[in-house]
Amino acid sequence: MSQLFFRTLREDPADAEVPSHRWLVRAGYIRRVAPGIYSWLPLGLRVLQNVEQIVREEMDAIGAQEVRFPGLLPREPYEASNRWTEYGANLFRLVDRKGGDYLLGPTHEEMFTLLVKDLYSSYKDLPLSLYQIQIKYRDEARPRAGILRGREFVMKDSYSFDVNDAGLDASYANHREAYIRIFDRLGLDYVIVQAMSGAMGGSASEEFLAIADNGEDTFVRSPGGYAANVEAVRVTAPPQQDPAGVGPVTEIDTPATGTIAELVDAVNAQFPRAEGPWTAADTLKNVVFTLQHPDGSSELLIVGLPGDRDVDVKRLEAAVAPAEAVAATDEDFAAHPALVKGYIGPVQVTESGVVQFLGTKGLSAVRYLTDPRVVAGTSWITGANRADTHQLNVVAGRDFTSDGVIDVAEVREGDPAPDGSGPLSLARGIEMGHIFQLGRKYAEALGLKVLDENGKLVTVTMGSYGVGVSRAVAAVAESTCDDRGLSWPRALAPFDVQVLATGKGDEIATAAEKLAQDLDAAGLRVLLDDRKASPGVKFTDAEVMGMPTSVVVGRGLADGLVEVRDRASGERLEVPIGDAVAHLVGVVRG
Ligand code: ATP
Ligand code: MG
Repeated sequence: MSQLFFRTLREDPADAEVPSHRWLVRAGYIRRVAPGIYSWLPLGLRVLQNVEQIVREEMDAIGAQEVRFPGLLPREPYEASNRWTEYGANLFRLVDRKGGDYLLGPTHEEMFTLLVKDLYSSYKDLPLSLYQIQIKYRDEARPRAGILRGREFVMKDSYSFDVNDAGLDASYANHREAYIRIFDRLGLDYVIVQAMSGAMGGSASEEFLAIADNGEDTFVRSPGGYAANVEAVRVTAPPQQDPAGVGPVTEIDTPATGTIAELVDAVNAQFPRAEGPWTAADTLKNVVFTLQHPDGSSELLIVGLPGDRDVDVKRLEAAVAPAEAVAATDEDFAAHPALVKGYIGPVQVTESGVVQFLGTKGLSAVRYLTDPRVVAGTSWITGANRADTHQLNVVAGRDFTSDGVIDVAEVREGDPAPDGSGPLSLARGIEMGHIFQLGRKYAEALGLKVLDENGKLVTVTMGSYGVGVSRAVAAVAESTCDDRGLSWPRALAPFDVQVLATGKGDEIATAAEKLAQDLDAAGLRVLLDDRKASPGVKFTDAEVMGMPTSVVVGRGLADGLVEVRDRASGERLEVPIGDAVAHLVGVVRG
């Protein structure tokens, strides 16, 4: 350690939001260069390489072959797939000296597709799985928590190529098994959840989430085994209702009803209901967003949902991607005077009767989408499109029709699982991996076809599979660190054993160095703290740096003893120095 390039810090970095970030910086593993961009120091790089090696071994084990693409890529392939535009502001774009457009690769579907198209042309060449472990670039809107969400990060991405759907299923299953082995070896507590399958619909897509309170993803689980990212939950629509008993649309005076609760109170006061009081779930809330499309155009989107639920921003983001939805501003309202903030509803009462205001026949500049619970026949209390006025008995299908369904209301603890497997519970996680049946989208866009057994040209079907390699370093740190520092599982630790020479005198220094050499000769990866520093500093640093085992050569040496410490459990054991090597080999090799 007197030679090692590192510094431990006594202060938290100012921008550290989560413990893993704090400790990785304080223990001298990573250094920030710019927002979401980090350098790896010797200790950190060893952990990163350990993760890479585990991923590499498991990919090789399913017969995937390693390649490496450049990070700097030409525009054309991404133009063909439309992702040059669709990726929007997340794509780092640049121009070379001749004026040619380039990008820094955020993911490489296009490049792999073209490479296989270049070289292969027959069903006999397939199945094929290729992977790389490589730096990716995404200009994330919110880089966060150090390397957990970087703008430059290391990803393992692989791609499978098959002639038919059964082949794709098999490649997907192989990757799924490999991922289970990878995340088991990383020692992560994780769940496999259904994920958004995007525009292709129906294809299998699953995420591996490390369970963590600091995670950005929310997932749901049911006792019956349903598990999904909250983005992918599809609410089951209730059966249609018969509105025969519901009276006509009735306007109600509702001054000073700024909140749903105030509205509900006002309605209960004016229209008490025999079957019990009205609740927020009887109201239809209409929330206005601006949808910004990657091509630069924008439109207004109004989401109609039961008033007891809010729009979940992440579910909305996922539902409208690649467009982005932002809450409408006062300027947006000013530009659309027909929309009366706080009193928006799908119908208007005019002299000629009830006319549709939003939805299929309503304001043409606005897209009106409703929650799946707003089925035909359901009756709502909602805005009247006039200040201080609401309406009662507004019936879906009778008085208005929306432009479609949007399933973006918050999912709540206790909601029924869509597959009927019981009430949902919610927890948070960090997305570690994503496996995805792409199907023929990229092969079609880029013309990847092969001759099948009958000599007929068929479009290849593909899968795409990612692991967040640098993110895994942070996620493991997050799940194992404590209030004293990092605490690595053996598989990831930069060193197996840290030997601490504590106390003055050549005897201790010599014995510590000899022990380190013997451990090294026995095949262990050893870090020797030979610095001229106090025992206190060495103990503190060892805990901050987080090697799973340390050995203290100090005061006990006079009695022929060293102390073996386990970082995770805090256990300490005195061992005769002569037995130390055998003991430690046993500890490390298990
Ligand atoms: P997220 O939803 O977290 O933004 P994503 O769905 O965009 O991730 P994928 O395109 O599926 O990510 O990428 C595969 C894997 O790469 C992810 O599962 C994640 O582990 C990792 N990853 C994605 N974005 C980042 C990032 N900005 N920093 C670090 N790792 C990332
Ligand atoms: Mg993903």
